[in-house]
Amino acid sequence: MKKLVSDKLRKACVVGSGPNGLAAAIVLAQAGLHVEVFEAQPTPGGAARTMELTLPGFHHDFGSAVYPLGAGSPFFSSLPLEKYGLEWIHSPAPLAHPLDDGTAVVLERDLDAAAASLGVDGKAWTRLVKPFVEHWSEFAPEVLHPLPAIPRHPWLMARFGLSALLSAQTIAARFRSERTRALFAGLAAHSFLRLDETMSGAFGMLMAIPAHAVGWPIPRGGAQSLTDALCSYLATLGGHVHTSSPIDSLAALSGYDVILCDVTPRQLLAIGGERLSGEYRRQLQGFRYGPGVFKVDYALQSPIPWKAPECARAATVHIGGSFEEIAASEAAMQSGKTADRPFVLLAQPSLFDSSRAPAGKHTAWAYCHIPNASTVNMLENLEAQIERFAPGFRDTILARRVFSPAALETLDANLVGGDVGGGALDLRQFVFRPTRRHYATSADDIFLCSASTPPGGGVHGMCGYHAARIALARLQ
Ligand SMILES: Cc1cc2nc3c(=O)[nH]c(=O)nc-3n(C[C@H](O)[C@H](O)[C@H](O)COP(=O)(O)OP(=O)(O)OC[C@H]3O[C@@H](n4cnc5c(N)ncnc54)[C@H](O)[C@@H]3O)c2cc1C
Repeated sequence: MKKLVSDKLRKACVVGSGPNGLAAAIVLAQAGLHVEVFEAQPTPGGAARTMELTLPGFHHDFGSAVYPLGAGSPFFSSLPLEKYGLEWIHSPAPLAHPLDDGTAVVLERDLDAAAASLGVDGKAWTRLVKPFVEHWSEFAPEVLHPLPAIPRHPWLMARFGLSALLSAQTIAARFRSERTRALFAGLAAHSFLRLDETMSGAFGMLMAIPAHAVGWPIPRGGAQSLTDALCSYLATLGGHVHTSSPIDSLAALSGYDVILCDVTPRQLLAIGGERLSGEYRRQLQGFRYGPGVFKVDYALQSPIPWKAPECARAATVHIGGSFEEIAASEAAMQSGKTADRPFVLLAQPSLFDSSRAPAGKHTAWAYCHIPNASTVNMLENLEAQIERFAPGFRDTILARRVFSPAALETLDANLVGGDVGGGALDLRQFVFRPTRRHYATSADDIFLCSASTPPGGGVHGMCGYHAARIALARLQ
């Protein structure tokens, strides 16, 4: 990055040290600014932190756990994070999806192997993802970029555009086997959209493509290793993270040339509303949050006793059965209800990373989608779903920690009502996120850099990267 042309040292601060806040801080520090990060919590990382949430010696990822877009992030990939302790671990397969017949669909990382294992749908799967898998290094910067933009690779993006607006249901209709349809439903359900909704298919593709291009790795030691590597690298650039330093008002931050806020619109209104124009405040008030999650972390006596042994090949397991069942679960959540048989996303990192639990013991991380800020207790339903495909699971539990949406929000204020993606990601909020201005606000020196800006949720740091570049351009 070019040093900022300036006759005096410019100062920047970042509110919040999630992956986007740290990415923004690094871009600013690389440009030669003096950067300080203020973090409300006692440890940096936001939803990329690892803690002993159950018993001593059991290390759980409080938020994110599996990083297709972290490993595939154009910005993170440009940083020497391995030098600062980051090590990606790939389970033999990225993903398993158990079914009621006691088998599981396994998504293999190698595309040819995946096509072979998907049998009758192998060719259709390959047609859907191959151009983007083969051109990931051109595709990722385009798709992790704000819209509208003039694509640098028009044919590739035009091809993606052909599917981008389709629902998961429409794309899944290309598959002949119920097994492949179920697999695609689980991928698309990461979007929190109904599976018959526009763009839900694109999200399914955006989960499938990196599975082949870069894998779905976990960091050795957990999410904290990624955060710690980002903080260590930032420190080499002169940046500093102040923890246990909540910012209640931007007025407290004087003397900075730019302020980047790794917060969502509601928080920006609370801490800096008086610095913003009435029109911009109204736009932020119209920003919509997405559904919430109900999450459970487990300390386990032994590995999860899957009926389908192939589930033990993947760090991530999608639990929800058929396409129709997953679609019903997501439709219930979108209409303000909860499903009796919810779609559950589960990670079992200790199978592949022994540092997560005492010798011979294990950890698991699982959540299901519920309406925003719901107070419903989904523990029984969530565990019944795991038991369905792993009878005896409950007998392996040594301890559990349950997170309602409110409990998640107390450990990271950005998780408003349990929304893990920084705001609903429908077509409108995909293009205008959180407003037409994207990262810029109505105040010249204040920028948003959280997952409430493009390209949205996930640990990739690209919101912070783009926000910081816009802020630098403004300074220059
Ligand atoms: C349960 C869960 C599971 C997830 N699973 C995955 C996954 O497997 N893979 C994936 O890629 N993504 C996953 N995500 C999403 C991903 O973690 C987020 O999209 C990502 O962390 C967003 O980064 P961010 O920097 O925008 O915000 P955050 O990570 O939320 O960080 C925001 C930070 O700002 C701080 N802050 C807020 N307000 C203030 C203030 N006023 N003063 C000071 N500090 C403040 C917060 O304390 C927090 O540290 C998951 C999220 C959750 C919660």
